[in-house]
Amino acid sequence: MTTAQSPSAGHGRNGSSRFVIIGAGMSGILSAIKLREAGLHDFAIYEKADRLGGTWRDNTYPGLACDVPSHLYCYSFAPNPDWSHRFASGAEIQSYFEAVARRLGIDRLIQYGKEVRRCTFSDGRWKIELADGSTDVADFVIAATGVLRDPAYPDIPGLETFAGPALHTARWDHRVTTAGRRIGIVGTGSSAIQVVSALVSEAAELVLFQRTPQWIMAQENPPYTPAERDDFRIHPEKMAELRADIARAFADGFSNAVVDAYSPQLQAIHEACVANLENSVRDPELREKLRPNYRAGCKRLIMSDDFYEAIQRPNARLVTEAIAGIEPGGVRTADGRLHALDVLVLATGFRVDRFVRPMQVSGRCGARLDDVWKEGPFAYLAITVPAFPNFFMLNGPNGPVGNFSLIDVAELQLGYILQLVEQVRAGSCREVSVSPTAMRRFEDERRQAAASTIWQSGCKSWYLDPHGVPIAWPWTFDRFREEMRAPRLVDFELR
Ligand code: NAP
Repeated sequence: MTTAQSPSAGHGRNGSSRFVIIGAGMSGILSAIKLREAGLHDFAIYEKADRLGGTWRDNTYPGLACDVPSHLYCYSFAPNPDWSHRFASGAEIQSYFEAVARRLGIDRLIQYGKEVRRCTFSDGRWKIELADGSTDVADFVIAATGVLRDPAYPDIPGLETFAGPALHTARWDHRVTTAGRRIGIVGTGSSAIQVVSALVSEAAELVLFQRTPQWIMAQENPPYTPAERDDFRIHPEKMAELRADIARAFADGFSNAVVDAYSPQLQAIHEACVANLENSVRDPELREKLRPNYRAGCKRLIMSDDFYEAIQRPNARLVTEAIAGIEPGGVRTADGRLHALDVLVLATGFRVDRFVRPMQVSGRCGARLDDVWKEGPFAYLAITVPAFPNFFMLNGPNGPVGNFSLIDVAELQLGYILQLVEQVRAGSCREVSVSPTAMRRFEDERRQAAASTIWQSGCKSWYLDPHGVPIAWPWTFDRFREEMRAPRLVDFELR
């Protein structure tokens, strides 16, 4: 067993605070950049995989792209004049994070193949235990472990008996040939819609198994011309302007609207989705099968300018009969029909209640995060949990996931966290944790506000917890930005 840092090493008061950052995805890289910028150089970044990038490393399925415009979906301090399209592909986003980490010298600081198994708070510091037996000790932990990380596999009888390859979208195997094959896709979320559009032209047959139809918003994805990209390079202020414009439009037109189920913006989005369906799907029977019976925005809104075209191709088939089981030869539906397949794609989403888990986190007096979260994960402002001092999450539970660019969310949260860290470093305390009273008040208000959001307007989705309460930030993004400006110290215990 190796020990990277002895338990007796310094604490904040003497200016030598040590940080452990868990994860080297978008928010882990960001944490390292911002800690260094703040003059805090004593940190380790542990990454369990052999490459940085988080969700953009793990998701490589055909057609993967981000539905937040690229000039917004990047770090505010690292604009990229070279985005190829309004909405970049997953591979391009992964290259962006690698390039930023390389350019700012973060990549060489990342310790790869280092999975953190346990964090234990003891004697005012965090003991970190890794899967390889090594340990570390830190004053502060920043858990940058991601949100949509662990694939959810469907509980369909016989899944394991399928004779061909069965791929989850988040674990694509590029050795599998899809061209000329009969491909079955389970699911109709953002991942499925992109895969369908990407694979239909090369598949012998594509069968989409739909349990619930989705509203789809038409979304063009024009390329940036070489002249536009040169212009961005020469005039970075134009990129900044574009970013600000997109952010404002995104906030006003969507993020601030989804939290009010009766907002005019949501009504306009619904009408645009209905028009898209009416105008794009020619066969009335297929059109009705694709028409959801809930309001647009209730499930995560899907953006696509080619899905309806893809599902109307002669080699594509939409199956709305429930799946009864999977057999070696394909998928059997409840009407008794066997849909013969060579490749099965599971676009069945993620386990969204994991956050830092399966890592074991024990706080003050041995409080186990697993026990504290037994009714479901929660965190004050999606960052911190009582009795877990100096332990901060980026994009933790109940944050504005889905409402905005998670990069902006993480940047704002990190600014907030650094202000809390400063309390310790300035000597006002050694431990900072949200008070149980503030946590309870926040949870009560959050649950109450959640009732007016579009997510609770009559559909099932990953936005709902097992009791049907929306798990995402239920207020406007503007309010989130405001909250992140400065911690209300009365809500914290500074010991
Ligand atoms: P998802 O939205 O959770 O969709 C999962 C799909 O699988 C749903 O259609 C669900 O049906 C279906 N499903 C699950 N279990 C099933 C079963 N046993 N039998 C039949 N169908 C089953 O997952 P996702 O598409 O991976 O997207 C998750 C989130 O990732 C998105 O909402 C988004 O936030 C993010 N994402 C974003 C992008 C982008 O930027 N464009 C792309 C991909 C993902 P029901 O609807 O009936 O439950």
